[in-house]
Amino acid sequence: MVAKETKAHSHTATSYTSDVLASVLERNMAEPEFHQAVEEVFTSLGPVLERRSDYRNARILERIVEPERVIMFRIPWQDDQGGIHVNRGFRIEMNSAIGPYKGGLRFHPSVNLGILKFLAFEQVFKNALTTLPMGGGKGGSDFDPKGKSDSEVMRFCQSFMTELARHIGPNTDVPAGDIGVGGREIGYMFGQYKRLRNEFTGVITGKGLNWGGSLIRPEATGYGSVYFAAEMLATKGKSLEDKVCLVSGSGNVAQYTVEKLIQLGAKAVTLSDSSGYIYDEAGIDKEKLEFVFDLKNVRRGRIKEYADKYKNVEFTARNAALDHNPLWNHQAQCAFPSATQNEINEKDALAMLKNGVELVSEGANMPVTTDGIKQLLDAGIFYGPGKAANAGGVATSGLEMTQNAQRLVWTREQVDERLQHIMKAVHKVCYETAEHFGTPNNYVSGANIAGFVKVADSMLDQGIV
Ligand code: NAP
Repeated sequence: MVAKETKAHSHTATSYTSDVLASVLERNMAEPEFHQAVEEVFTSLGPVLERRSDYRNARILERIVEPERVIMFRIPWQDDQGGIHVNRGFRIEMNSAIGPYKGGLRFHPSVNLGILKFLAFEQVFKNALTTLPMGGGKGGSDFDPKGKSDSEVMRFCQSFMTELARHIGPNTDVPAGDIGVGGREIGYMFGQYKRLRNEFTGVITGKGLNWGGSLIRPEATGYGSVYFAAEMLATKGKSLEDKVCLVSGSGNVAQYTVEKLIQLGAKAVTLSDSSGYIYDEAGIDKEKLEFVFDLKNVRRGRIKEYADKYKNVEFTARNAALDHNPLWNHQAQCAFPSATQNEINEKDALAMLKNGVELVSEGANMPVTTDGIKQLLDAGIFYGPGKAANAGGVATSGLEMTQNAQRLVWTREQVDERLQHIMKAVHKVCYETAEHFGTPNNYVSGANIAGFVKVADSMLDQGIV
C-alpha cells in the first residue's frame, strides 16, 4: 500500500495532520501503541504547522512517521537442557536527521513491531530535546529473561548480537538497555559484538565501569525524572521536600527514582512489578531500598518479598480483570510511573487527582493512556511527559559516547552535574516552547513542538532523503 496523496499545499494544518494520521492508521495495521504515540505528537503540532507551510510542502509528517529502516530477524538459541527456541529480533532505525540512531533494546514477551515503533518514534523527539546530537531508534526481542539462567541469557544475547552487529556501529546506531536489558545483558551483547568485529568502540551504552561505561548512567533515568519534577515544581516556588510519592515498577528507573526522592527529602510509598505492588506508608528508606537493589538486581526475585520482610507493608497481587490499577489510588502529591506503557488509564488518572496528586513525572515511556492524559492536562497539574522527563537516561548515554570517543572517564560529580544541566535545559525548552505557542504550562505540547521543530528543520536542511 502506498502513502495516500495528501494535498499539502492547499491543506490547513488540521486537515494535514488528520490526513497523515489516517494514513498511519491504514498503513500500520495492528500497531495500536504506534498509532497512540503518533497521535499524541500530532495533537500538539497544529500551531507549528499553521506557521510553517514549508513543513507541509516538504511532507515532513509523512516522512517522520516512516522509519528510515526496520530490521527484523530470527534469534535461535539453546536452553540448558539442549532444547531449541526461536525468538524474534528487531531494530527500528527511525530517524537520523540529527545524529546516529540511539535508543534502547527491550527484552519482554510483549515486544512486537508496533511497540518498538512507538518507542522509536518517541525516542526521536526525546533525543532532540537532550541538546545532544542523537537520532532515534529502538529495538529488542520478545525473549523473556525472567526465570532464565545466566548461561541461557548469555546464549540468547550472543545469538541476538550475531545478527544485530551487522547493522550497528559507534557512528551508525548505538543501542542501550530498556526493560529486561540491564548490565548483564549489555555485557553479553558487547562481548559478542567485540568478538565479531574485532574492535573496541562505544557501540553500546550502559556498559560496565571497567570497560567504557559511564558513572551515573544506571542512575540517570530515575535521577533525571526526579530532577525534571523538581524543575516543574520550582516554577511555582515549590519543592519535593516532604512530598508523598507513588512510584511504579521496581527495575532500573524505579530504583533510582526512589533513591533521588529520598535524597531530596520526599517519601516514596509504592513499588511494583508484573505480579503486583507494595504500599509502605512509612516510606521506602535507604535500608529498604538496598533490599530492593539486591532483590531485583542480584536475586531477581518478586516485589512481594518486600512485604514479607518489612512490617506494616501491604502487598496487592495484580488482578488483570480490574479496569484500573489500585497502586494509583493512595493519598499522595506526586506520581512517578516507571514500569511500562499504558499503566495509568482514565480511571487511574481520576483516582490520582482525587487523592491529591499534583505532579506526574514519567520515568516510563507513554505510561498514561490518551484519555488519562486528557484528565491530567484538564486538571492543570504539573505533567512531565516521558519524552522530556525520562530524557536523562539517553542524555547520559550520550555523555558515555562522548567519553568513549575521547577515551576519557569523567567523575561521578562531573556526569551528575552535566545530567542536571541537561534536565534543566530540557525543562526550559519545554516550558518556553509551550508558552511561545500559546499553551502555557503544557509540557506535552512544549516537548512535542520543541523536539519536532529541531528534527524537522534538520530534515529540511538535508533535502529529500
Ligand atoms: P526494568 O529494569 O526491566 O524494570 C521494568 C519494571 O517494570 C519491572 O519492575 C517490571 O516488572 C515492570 N514491568 C515491565 N513490564 C511490565 C508489564 N507489562 N506489566 C507490569 N509491570 C511491568 O526496565 P526499566 O529500564 O526500569 O524501564 C522501565 C520504563 O522506563 C520503561 O517504560 C522504559 O521504556 C522506560 N525508560 C527506561 C530508560 C532506561 O534508561 N532504562 C530510559 C528511558 C525510559 P517485572 O520484572 O515483573 O516484569
